[in-house]
Parts: sequence; C-alpha cells; structure tokens
Amino acid sequence: MDFEPNQREAEIQRIARTFATGELEPGARERDRTASFPERELRALAGLGLMGLNTPTSFGGAQAGMVAFSLAVQEIARADASVAVAMAVTNLVADMIMLYGTDEQRRAYLPRITSGEALVASFAVSESQAGSDLAAMTTTAVRTALGWRIDGAKQWITSGDRAGVVIVGAKTDPKAGKKGISAFIIPAGTPGMTAGAPEDKMGQRGSSTVPLRFASCTVPEGALLGPLGGGLPLIYTALESGRIGIASLALGIGRAALDAALAYARSRIQFGSAIATFQAIQFLLADVATDLDAGHLLTMRAAQGKDRGRAVTREAAMAKLFASEAAGRAADAAIQVMGANGFMRTFPAERYARDARVTRIYEGTSEVQRLVIARSLLDQPLAGVPA
Ligand SMILES: Cc1cc2nc3c(=O)[nH]c(=O)nc-3n(C[C@H](O)[C@H](O)[C@H](O)COP(=O)(O)OP(=O)(O)OC[C@H]3O[C@@H](n4cnc5c(N)ncnc54)[C@H](O)[C@@H]3O)c2cc1C
Repeated sequence: MDFEPNQREAEIQRIARTFATGELEPGARERDRTASFPERELRALAGLGLMGLNTPTSFGGAQAGMVAFSLAVQEIARADASVAVAMAVTNLVADMIMLYGTDEQRRAYLPRITSGEALVASFAVSESQAGSDLAAMTTTAVRTALGWRIDGAKQWITSGDRAGVVIVGAKTDPKAGKKGISAFIIPAGTPGMTAGAPEDKMGQRGSSTVPLRFASCTVPEGALLGPLGGGLPLIYTALESGRIGIASLALGIGRAALDAALAYARSRIQFGSAIATFQAIQFLLADVATDLDAGHLLTMRAAQGKDRGRAVTREAAMAKLFASEAAGRAADAAIQVMGANGFMRTFPAERYARDARVTRIYEGTSEVQRLVIARSLLDQPLAGVPA
C-alpha cells in the first residue's frame, strides 16, 4: 500500500503550504478575534487552483483528485480552519455538480466556482429541526408553470451569505419520506432566497454560518440537480467526500497544535530544563503524533479509495470520526503542554481547541459516523477481519 503523494499531489500540497504559511497564518488570529470573513484569502485560493481540485480541467479545475484535495485542506487548516471549511465546502459543491449535474449545469456553474467568480459555494441541507435526521426537513419545492417554488428555512449554512452558488435540499414529495427529497442548484441573488445574520460561534469564527430563508423562491426546471426524489442518496454520497474534507481539516488543526506544543516544549524551561526533556511531556507529544498519523492514514485510505472510484462510505466515516476526535485531543494536549499560556488568547492553542470542536459535529456528528460504520459492518464485514 502506497500512501506517498505522487508528483502532482505533492506539488498541490506545496502550493497550499506556501500560501498557508505566508498568507494565512499571519492574519489567522486577528480574523478569529474579529470574526472577519476571509474574502481576500478565499479569492486567492481560487487563483491558486484550490477551488475545484477534483474538477476536470475543461471546467477550470485542477483535476487532481481527492488525495490532493485532502493534502491541500490539511495545509490550509493548519494555518486557518475558517478558510479551510469554506474551501472544503466549495470543493464539495463542485464535486456534486460534476457528478450529478447535466452538461448545462456543469457549464453554467463549474467555471464560476473554479475561477473564484462565485467566491465560494454552499451546501444547504440542515434545518433547525433536521440536523442528523435530514429526512425530517420541511423545506418544500413545488412544481409550477415557471419551474420550482421553494419555501422553508435552512440553518447553520457555511458561507450561505457569501456563496455565489448554493445546493439546497427540499421535499418535492412530502408523502414519499426519504424518497421525496430532491436537490436544487440556486445562484446567489435569486429572488426569495435571503440569508440571516451570521452566528456568533465558539470557533472557526472567520467562516460565516447563517440561516437561509426561502420564500416563494422560484427557480427554473433546470435547477433540479440529479434525479427527482433522489436527493437524499445524492446528499449521502456527497457526504463521503465532505467527510474526507472535514477529516483533513481536523488533521490540519491537530498538526498545528502539535507544532505549537513541540516548539513550546523545546523553549520552556522549568526546574532548569526544557520541559521537552520531561517524560510526561514527551508521552503527551508521542500520543498526539501517533493519533494524527493514524488519522492521516485513515484519511488517505478513504481519499485514495475515492480516487479509484470505490464507494468509501465506511472509510470516510472512520476517517472523519477518528481525525476529528484526534484533533480535539491534540489541541487539548497542546494547551496542557503550554500550561497557563495555553489558556491565553495570545497563544494559538486555545484557538485550535475551539476550531477543532465543531469537526465532531458538522457533516455528521461523531455519533452519526459511528452509526454509519456500525451499519456498514453489519451489512458487510470489515475487509481482512474474520466475520
Ligand atoms: C459551524 C457549523 C457549520 C455548519 N455548516 C453546515 C452547512 O454548510 N450545511 C448544512 O446543511 N449544515 C451545516 N451545519 C449543520 C450540521 O451539519 C449539523 O449541526 C449536524 O448535522 C448535527 O445536527 P444538529 O446540530 O441538529 O444535532 P442533532 O441532530 O440534534 O443531534 C444532537 C445530538 O444527538 C445525537 N444524535 C442525533 N441522532 C442520533 C442517533 N440516531 N443516534 C445517536 N445519537 C444521535 C447527535 O450525535 C448529537 O450529539 C453546520 C453546523 C455548524 C455548527
């Protein structure tokens, strides 16, 4: 098994790392403090080819695959998780349009996303009463002479007030349960779609998280993405890529926490020695590094499987579950290594802890990942493990 990036993947990783350390890291703390949306930084990402990493070059993408995407998200998140989440969701939307869109939809939206004209893209499925239980959504899309009329409200939508393009889940047949949900592509500025005020969040404060309201929002027939009534399977398949993105984002935060802890442990002197010489500190660092490597291998397995055209439902859920929890442990360990300074906003460890926390919640909570993994185990035993 080879988890070494190929030349193209390594090049994309290098581009992302150079940008992250040179352009993102210096302003990350201030953007967190002031909850400032990183518009300039996101525009620059598109300029570097990092929006649409998996999108064919014919639509302006990098056509570099999920491994490249994962490596790039890790690098960006290492500097600023708020930029990384907007980037990850934008890539997810591009993948969905590529996979499920008609040629017309691909031509209309993909170049706008990859070029940065759309700035970012959003994926709006959650509602205040439908988070883990997406089938409980109440937003409706009713067929009219003009196309579809959408009514309802989405909640907690990443970049919902900034996105040039939004994919929205809505019930087209409320009596058909899970088979009555469809997906729609809606461009920003469509009358009837309005964003509410950004949430005041614990972490990833530079990213914008908003409610989206739909009041007689009319879109043409051609806004339907994928099959009528086939929205939920489409959303679940998209979440495979989404979870690889969030696992990668979590690993980036975890790596930043480990870097900070290592630097601090080397320079902090207590009892006449650098605290890095104390075994208790070394064990903390060793556990974090092992955790992050394990998360990285799980994430690379899922990304590589996806690149090879395999369904990676279980692998993506395992990667997201493990990497997000490992990132939380890494940030907590970094705070411990830094003592009082770890608790202060002048040091970055507390930001990493706040930024990492939500990776256990969005794109499916840790509990939901465990459900996905358990269901797939009961369906089909783990490869290589006797049933
Ligand atoms: C910062 C942020 C950004 C987000 N961005 C987006 C976005 O861009 N687009 C979007 O559509 N959504 C987005 N979300 C919403 C996110 O996907 C949901 O918050 C998430 O799916 C969980 O839903 P919930 O918050 O309603 O929790 P709930 O579903 O109410 O869950 C509450 C608790 O119950 C547990 N639980 C629920 N069901 C079960 C079960 N069957 N078995 C065991 N435990 C269970 C959960 O694990 C959790 O611990 C975002 C959320 C946040 C915080």
